[in-house]
Amino acid sequence: MQIHYKRRCFICQSRDHFLCCFKKFSCFTEKDLSTCFANQRDSPLQQSEDDPEGGITLRDYHMHLEKGEYKQEYLKEFVAAGGKRGVTELGISEHTHHFKEFQEIYFRNVIMDDSAIGRYQESWLKQSPKSFCYTLDQYVSLIEAGKKAGLPLKLGLEVCYFPGEEQNLRRILKQYPFDYCIGSVHWLHGWGFDTKAELWQGKEVNEVYSSYKEVLLQAIQSDLFDVIGHPFSCKVFRHWPQGIEMNPWYVEIAAALLKHNTAMEINTGLLYRYPAATICPPLGLLQAAADADCQISFGSDAHTSSDAGRALGYALQVAKEARITQQMNFEHRKGSRVLLEPLPVSTL
Ligand SMILES: [Zn+2]
Ligand SMILES: [Zn+2]
Repeated sequence: MQIHYKRRCFICQSRDHFLCCFKKFSCFTEKDLSTCFANQRDSPLQQSEDDPEGGITLRDYHMHLEKGEYKQEYLKEFVAAGGKRGVTELGISEHTHHFKEFQEIYFRNVIMDDSAIGRYQESWLKQSPKSFCYTLDQYVSLIEAGKKAGLPLKLGLEVCYFPGEEQNLRRILKQYPFDYCIGSVHWLHGWGFDTKAELWQGKEVNEVYSSYKEVLLQAIQSDLFDVIGHPFSCKVFRHWPQGIEMNPWYVEIAAALLKHNTAMEINTGLLYRYPAATICPPLGLLQAAADADCQISFGSDAHTSSDAGRALGYALQVAKEARITQQMNFEHRKGSRVLLEPLPVSTL
């Protein structure tokens, strides 16, 4: 029998599989999501029939300037594109691999041997023109000048977390007036799992996930970061563990976030930039974090100005379904919870 749901799937607008019991995500899987997005990933967010008010205003605290120049004009492009999507405050969060101050940390921790992984990573870190090309002073002055000129910016940084480098990271971070620091797991034992799908060859997916979870917990427990970036971005190339009960992991991670006063990021980058075509975190972790009343931050992970705020309307819908009612505001590394307010227009 064909079931016809009262509400449409808010991703692809179909009526044959939307699950109104979204409150617990119990019947909505990662696979369902990627199927929907494979069909309709670029379609604008439709206002839900049950929610004529549409979207919610928000801060976008995760974006990168790396495809452009360090100029005020480029910052203004981000503000304009984000503004069109309802973003009222933009946090720029450059990657640490652009800054000379972090070079030694990468060289100590990243595999750069004669393996396929090593060769690729060595050329990326040593030959890419944007690797370690700026100083933190240059970056901080750019954003501070933008703030002084009245742009609605926050000074952030996306920090690659390497276990064992906590003291070195702390020493560097405390010298600059960041509003917030995002800690992201991009490397597992020196392997950058999100760079190329081919470099997963021979990897045991369950082991990758176990290792990811351990490093993620260490990042939270390090008390180095205000936000944990895109949790479980190891699903980037659509690998998913088999036979592992993930919910106990999610509960453990949510409890650690709460204990260490660290926000979890809802990040849309994997949705539109990678084959995964879903947001981070996985829905189970999102629900665990919502149930534990963790702090939440939003990020589009824009790598070009035109992507500022991209797909945050969808992230907000998902957050709302999980009954998340607040987002974090950060200033000089102090966070406060701010209500997600209704907006009269769609955010996409
Ligand atoms: Zn990242
Ligand atoms: Zn990023």
